[in-house]
Amino acid sequence: MYIAMVASECAPAAKVGGLADVVHGLARELQLRGQSVEVFLPMYDCMRYERISNLKQYWPDLWVPYYEGGCHCEVFHGEVDGLSCYFFRPHSKENFFNRGIYYGHNDDAARFALFSRAVLEFMYKSGRRPDIIHCHDWQTGLVAPMLFEIYQPLGMGHSRICYTLHNVHHQGLTGPHILRQSGLGMHLMDLDKLGDGRHPGAANLMKGGIVYSNFITTVSPRYADEIRHTELGHGLQATLAAHSGKFCGLLNGIDYGSWNPEVDNFIPYRYSFDNFSNKYANKEALRHRLLLQDKFKPIVSVVSRLDQQKGVQLISHALFHALANGAQFVLLGSGTEKSINDHFWALKQRFNDNPDCHIELSFNEELSHMIYAGADMIVIPSAFEPCGLTQIIGMKYGTVPVVRATGGLADTVCDANYSNKPYEERTGFTFDDFSEGALDSALGRAIGLWYKYPRYFNQLATNGMRQDYSWNKSGGDYINIFNHIRA
Ligand code: ADP
Repeated sequence: MYIAMVASECAPAAKVGGLADVVHGLARELQLRGQSVEVFLPMYDCMRYERISNLKQYWPDLWVPYYEGGCHCEVFHGEVDGLSCYFFRPHSKENFFNRGIYYGHNDDAARFALFSRAVLEFMYKSGRRPDIIHCHDWQTGLVAPMLFEIYQPLGMGHSRICYTLHNVHHQGLTGPHILRQSGLGMHLMDLDKLGDGRHPGAANLMKGGIVYSNFITTVSPRYADEIRHTELGHGLQATLAAHSGKFCGLLNGIDYGSWNPEVDNFIPYRYSFDNFSNKYANKEALRHRLLLQDKFKPIVSVVSRLDQQKGVQLISHALFHALANGAQFVLLGSGTEKSINDHFWALKQRFNDNPDCHIELSFNEELSHMIYAGADMIVIPSAFEPCGLTQIIGMKYGTVPVVRATGGLADTVCDANYSNKPYEERTGFTFDDFSEGALDSALGRAIGLWYKYPRYFNQLATNGMRQDYSWNKSGGDYINIFNHIRA
């Protein structure tokens, strides 16, 4: 099967968060299963070019329909961790992907609409006819409407679309001009198509992806339920209900080639559950690197984008709780919102000389691996979490997750104390309420167990390492879905 992955991120070359890991991990899994996979990405100036090999111009003159004229694009080809990737570089006065950051501009909808159209135009002109076009999140929501409205009549009737919702909090709301930009008719503004139910007159790109795709997935069973039946659907509940026959939740995996303490090149000492003591050597190395004192204390960590979704107020609260209860605290966080950044910069200054605390405000892939390997616990107090990868990565590294039981966090972490599963299957600590008290209780139980019953704590850590959250299962499920929609 020829599968085209169309997305705005792919690790490790273009990564903001979990979307990049998922596109990379799933594409690799599908390739390992013998499928022919190509990945289509925008060519951002801020990508990690050192992670792309053999980058070459592939198609010098791609004229992409844009309003009543055309936008000139170049297409490059390169390999990212063995994946064949095409990168689209538009040349226009808007400088769409040369802005130093991935997202956060007023014209993001226009940027990714142009990218979506460029990908289809390239497939059409270069004779590519994927069996499956797998699109991800609102940035590629227009691919399905464009395929069915514009390219099917031109002869691309063979391709089927699977669309994955990674986060329905961001839906790509924009004005109807986006349809004119993309060559789509104004009839798509109908409420059963792209017209947004809550914002009269607005076009909703994610809704377009849902309505026009042959199948829709989201990234965990619990989140599938939450977005259909609760406010977490942010207005898409009725649309998802109308299309429920082609919708399901499949848990994300992680790529154990990239996230595995037995083979990880970023960590100083490799380990598995058989030689767990090497984890302590990584703990020492982490302390050394972050100038933390070497004392008999657990390290509580956070590796996260810093935004409201991630529970920023509870993340700061975890810092105070950890320090007050005899733990060290390490935060690696990347934020885009000024007020949140200011808050954490103030905390960083305040705790600068504290030998038990380190706050790193940047995006740092290598340091993230060292933290997963060196910390004892990882806290994820999200307000909502479609799947969440950091708890899954944490478990693989024997770092016990302390999480709010929402979305994929609830699907993956089994509480040490409040579960009817055998102890061998319990992997962390969960709490329900989005409140400081609830977090205190779960983190308190984790730190308490570390001090009082280290043997049980270690067993919890190694239980997590034994779980299989590879792409093995969901990779097979995706292939079944692809076969189903091709039939
Ligand atoms: P989201 O996609 O909402 O950001 P996930 O838990 O699904 O959250 O995925 C987060 C991914 O991004 C993980 O691979 C995590 O290690 C990584 N990550 C998050 N923040 C940082 C950071 N500041 N530096 C390096 N990696 C980060």
